[in-house]
Amino acid sequence: MPDLLNVDDAVARILKEIKPLPAEQIALIDALGRVLAASLVADLSLPPFANSSMDGFAVRAADIADASAANPLSLRVVADIPAGHTSTQIINTGEAARIMTGAPMPTGADAVIPVEQTDQSWRSGDAAPLPERVAISVSVKTGDYVRPVGEDIMAGETILTAGTTIGAPELGVLAALGQAQVSVTRRPRIVILGSGDELVDVGEPLTPGKIRDVNSYTLFGLISAYGGDPILIPTARDTLDDVRRRFREALSYDPDLILSSAGVSVGTFDVVRAVMEELGEIGFWRVNLRPGKPLAFGKLGGKPFFGLPGNPVSAMVTFDVFVRPALLKLTGSSDVFPTIQATLRETLKSDGRRSYIRVTLSREDGQIVARTTGTQSSGALMSMVRADGLLIIPEDVIEASTGQSFPVRLLRNFV
Ligand code: AMP
Ligand code: MG
Repeated sequence: MPDLLNVDDAVARILKEIKPLPAEQIALIDALGRVLAASLVADLSLPPFANSSMDGFAVRAADIADASAANPLSLRVVADIPAGHTSTQIINTGEAARIMTGAPMPTGADAVIPVEQTDQSWRSGDAAPLPERVAISVSVKTGDYVRPVGEDIMAGETILTAGTTIGAPELGVLAALGQAQVSVTRRPRIVILGSGDELVDVGEPLTPGKIRDVNSYTLFGLISAYGGDPILIPTARDTLDDVRRRFREALSYDPDLILSSAGVSVGTFDVVRAVMEELGEIGFWRVNLRPGKPLAFGKLGGKPFFGLPGNPVSAMVTFDVFVRPALLKLTGSSDVFPTIQATLRETLKSDGRRSYIRVTLSREDGQIVARTTGTQSSGALMSMVRADGLLIIPEDVIEASTGQSFPVRLLRNFV
């Protein structure tokens, strides 16, 4: 099949046309799921001051080196340090300070004894009076129960690199470092456009010959999941005028990317293709993959444009293979496509194209095992609903045998 474009070459050609989007400043609370536009260098250490990791007494470890149950040692309590407060009291030999978790260590003290290892006790919420003395029956080493300055983060360290997707832990680090505003790449605006006289929207009744528009919803979901802002416009009828009107409407949103589905396969009503050619520079590619051989890619009104196949599974698979890398490049994301190796538990015929087989995964006898989800028809929506991933049978393989190992591109978390 020499006239078919290799999948990797097609992806490379697409990525050459995609430019990362500029950065914008947003409030930290809005940053979940966004991609950091610049690396973050810590401008302070965390913790910023040495503090206690327990409720107890700050001591000089050398003072109680000989303490034991048989030989409890008594220290004079000279300060009381709750979290959020500092004490200027210096702890001299023979002295201790009552200290709470997170409170700064007083000068002179170098370790903490948890309250449970003293003769003192208090209940939480209890404003227990400060004792005059505390008896200690265990020894500690210098630094015990003390969180030193910079234990977590050192000032000057690069903490997060550009391209990181901000999750809950990253929100925490950004908050700790005082980043009330965060520089992230702008979210790509992506118009979704379908076409076909047979399509009706989800709320409309099905009359003979009609089916409901699926691709608008699946593409909406995929775009949202990978950090884009989807913009849905009504599907076009199969007339030159309507297709032209909807494509113009797509451009009016000043999108970063336009995604259309259907109308690119051989034998379809040629209006979609005619309008694509009229409004842009589009290449019609026959890519060496299954499902989803027909693919249109180019510029429409100067904007990157994908014409995905109409069959719902083909549209989702080609999104994963071609559009997702483009989306990652637009956002500058350094996310990767998680791929694992799995043992096929079936024998499958392939046709020499690179095949993306919908599979379920399970762990059996210490192996990850893949089985097909059932019919692999490119219209079978349930094959995607059931799939944990896409098992990739490489080009030029016409039989994939049971027991062979293949890469599986994960579509959901597999643990
Ligand atoms: P086409 O490329 O226009 O020939 O479409 C290929 C197949 O995909 C046909 O069976 C269409 O009915 C179907 N199809 C096209 N667009 C959609 C859509 N948005 N939702 C569900 N099926 C679609
Ligand atoms: Mg059609």
